[in-house]
Amino acid sequence: MSCGNVVGLPSDTAYLLAMKRPLFIGHEIFRHSSYGRWHPLRVPRVSTVMDLSKALGWLPPDQFITSPRAKPKALTHWHTPEYINALQRVQAEQRASAQDHQRHDIGSVTNPVFPEIFTRPATAAGGSILAGELLRDGGVIYNPAGGTHHGMPDRANGFCYLNDPVLAMLSLRHHGVRRIAYIDIDAHHPDGVETGFGGDPDCLMISVHEDRLWPRSGPIENDAGGNALNLPVPRGFNDSEMAFVRDSLILPKVAAFKPDAIVFLCGADGIEEDPLSHMKLSNNAHIAVLKGLLGIAPRLLVLGGGGYNPWSVGRLWTQIWGLLNGLDAPDILPDAAELVLRALRFDGNRRGKNPPQHWFTTLRDAPREGPLREEIRAGVKLLQQRSGI
Ligand SMILES: [Zn+2]
Repeated sequence: MSCGNVVGLPSDTAYLLAMKRPLFIGHEIFRHSSYGRWHPLRVPRVSTVMDLSKALGWLPPDQFITSPRAKPKALTHWHTPEYINALQRVQAEQRASAQDHQRHDIGSVTNPVFPEIFTRPATAAGGSILAGELLRDGGVIYNPAGGTHHGMPDRANGFCYLNDPVLAMLSLRHHGVRRIAYIDIDAHHPDGVETGFGGDPDCLMISVHEDRLWPRSGPIENDAGGNALNLPVPRGFNDSEMAFVRDSLILPKVAAFKPDAIVFLCGADGIEEDPLSHMKLSNNAHIAVLKGLLGIAPRLLVLGGGGYNPWSVGRLWTQIWGLLNGLDAPDILPDAAELVLRALRFDGNRRGKNPPQHWFTTLRDAPREGPLREEIRAGVKLLQQRSGI
C-alpha cells in the first residue's frame, strides 16, 4: 500500500498478501440521481465515498471498476421478466400505470417513479453480478451502491427495485462458489434476501436489525427454513451490545460455517444520527464487525445498503474501503476531504441545518458504548442454543 497507515488487522499481512488488491465498483450515475425531493434517497452516498477516497489517495485507477449495467436477461435470473419489462417501460415513459402500481408497487411513495428508475438499480445490480464473477478465484470487492436487500422477485419494496445481494449470490453460485455466509447489519431486516435464500443449507444468513422497524419481518423465531439467524434488537442498540453480538454470535457462527464466500451488507442506518432508525451505534461498531470477518473466507463482497444521513454514510463507507485496504483514516482529514464533506447538503432534515464540526473534519465517530441489556443477552443465547455454538 502506498499511503496511509496499516491498521491492526488480524494477521493483516498474510491476509493482504494472500488476496488480490481489493476492487471498488462504482459509477457516476449515483452522483446526481435522486428518488425525488422528499425521499430519504435524495442524498448523495456512493459519490461521496468515491470523492473522499480519492481525496485521501485511496482510490488508484487500477483498483476502480466502472460498474456495468446489468442486461435485462441477467436480472431475470431472479426477477420476473414482466417486472423487468415494467421497470424499463416506466423509465421510458416516466409514468407508472395502475397495474404497475398494483402488481409491482412501482410509483408508490416509497418506490417512486424517478428518471433513472431502471438504469440506476440495474447499474448497482450489474456491479454485484460482476463481483460474483470476479470473485471466482478469490479476492475482496466493494460495491457500495449494492445492498438493496428488500427487492422482491416481482415487485419493488422498501426503496429497492432490484435485489442485488441475491443476484450477487446467484452469480457466485454460477461461478462455482457454493457456501455463502450473508451477514447483514443494516437497521432493517433483509426480507428480500431471505425470500431468495431461505431454506438453502449452503447459505447461512445472519441479520441484526431493529425490532419492530419496517418491514417488521425477521423475528427471532424465524429461521427461514433452517438457515437464518435473525436477531431483532431494541431501540438504542449501542456499540457495546454490537460487540457482544459480534463476538458471541456472528464471528463464531460464520467461522464454524466455513464459507467459501462472505457477503457483508454494511447499511449505515444503524448509526445514531440516521433519520430512519432508532439505534445508537457509532461507525466504530460497523468497522469492528468487518474487521472480525476479514480473512475468514477466501472471498469477500462488501455491499452498502441503507443509510440516509449523507455524512454518516460517507464517513462510514469510506472507512470501510480504507479497512479493506489496510488503511486507517487520519485523525483530522486533509483539506480536500473536508471540502467533500462540507459540500454535502441534507435539505429537509434538521440534522442538515447546523452539522457538528466533526462531521466535516473526521471519518471516525467517538465510541458509543453503553449497558448490555438483558434482552440482547437472552436473544443471543437462544440463537446460540439453536445453532449449536
Ligand atoms: Zn435499512
